[in-house]
Amino acid sequence: MYCKACGEAMNDNQAICLNCGVKTGQGNAFCSNCGNSVNPEAEVCLSCGVATKRSKLGSLDFGTSHSGNGDLGNYNKVTMALIAFFVGGLGIHNFMLGETKKGLVKIGATLLTYGLAGEVLAIIDFVKILTDKYEINPDKFI
Ligand SMILES: [Zn+2]
Ligand SMILES: [Zn+2]
Repeated sequence: MYCKACGEAMNDNQAICLNCGVKTGQGNAFCSNCGNSVNPEAEVCLSCGVATKRSKLGSLDFGTSHSGNGDLGNYNKVTMALIAFFVGGLGIHNFMLGETKKGLVKIGATLLTYGLAGEVLAIIDFVKILTDKYEINPDKFI
């Protein structure tokens, strides 16, 4: 770990930089991961790629694992898009993503409308997946 104010190497459990007296995590002129100087406005260190901004209550993590960010878990985007396109009317992609409710709704819609409604829902998912707008939500039906 390095002091973010002066770039001096520090122990991980050090509360204050012994070189400049600034509290650990304060300052934005140096990367705490590699000690290289960074642009104070930069989101990530250009030397090591680690996020430079101080996270307030872990706010840096928000948005990466929730709502409409195109996150498909361990699955590849193109693979899921193709599955949604070809067998999406049976909710296969939903079941793979743990979205049982959405999958059952698609099967029901497919059976009731001879495939039409299920396919429409599947194409909507298909477009969302391709445009990184898909949201995995096991509690939703559509
Ligand atoms: Zn310092
Ligand atoms: Zn760095």
